[in-house]
Amino acid sequence: MGNLFILSAPSGTGKSTVASKLLERLEGLRRVITATTREPRPGERDGVDYYFMKKDDFERGIRGGYFLEWAEVYGNYYGTPREQVDKNIKEGYDSLLVIDVQGAFKVKEIMPRSVGIFLLPPSMEELKRRMKRRGYSDKNTSLRLETAKKEIPCAPNFDYIVVNDFIDHAVDQIRSIIISLRCKKENALEDLRISSAVSKDILELMEGGGCYGKKT
Ligand code: ADP
Ligand code: 5GP
Repeated sequence: MGNLFILSAPSGTGKSTVASKLLERLEGLRRVITATTREPRPGERDGVDYYFMKKDDFERGIRGGYFLEWAEVYGNYYGTPREQVDKNIKEGYDSLLVIDVQGAFKVKEIMPRSVGIFLLPPSMEELKRRMKRRGYSDKNTSLRLETAKKEIPCAPNFDYIVVNDFIDHAVDQIRSIIISLRCKKENALEDLRISSAVSKDILELMEGGGCYGKKT
């Protein structure tokens, strides 16, 4: 069984940038490709960055229970296809879901074992610079900065908080969070049973009981 990691942050903090570097640097992690009704940005590809959907189809999807959660963000629909998460978990892959703060809370409610990671910008000034660099208009930037002021207070409600000052540092920290969860005994035992990381004799000794320092 894979774990679900939710990466959330105010728009412009660097979620997508951090996520793509993380996926390059960690095996066994798959990104959950979410759906949106917004237009693709230059270079974005359907089925890679998002599933780009028509509004009517998205609304039909909402009615049909196709989404684990969905939200309206800056005038467009965004939603997490349920089957994407289920498939990764079943196939033993960890999933990385990059969504906004309201979506993160909904997923955590439905899947309490999921792990929420909040990415913080180092300062409001830097957040504004990053938004500008991404080409948002002044009006759009102001709207997103106002939303950020309501989202940043949510950071303490997440399981982990990571600052995205230096990108490599942030990626390393999230990588460590994921690896550390994989080593937790509940996950590690299950993993060892199905992988060939240790030989049969080690597995039998470990699972045979009779730990000598501990009374049973
Ligand atoms: P989000 O997905 O959170 O909206 P993006 O990943 O699109 O944010 O990043 C917004 C902008 O900030 C991009 O121009 C990206 O290159 C830049 N960026 C991301 N992380 C950093 C960082 N650690 N230092 C400097 N610039 C960054
Ligand atoms: P953008 O249009 O900049 O790609 O994304 C806008 C915001 O929507 C980002 O904060 C992004 O993480 C969020 N988002 C992307 N997919 C989903 C989703 O499936 N559900 C929710 N709730 N938010 C999403």
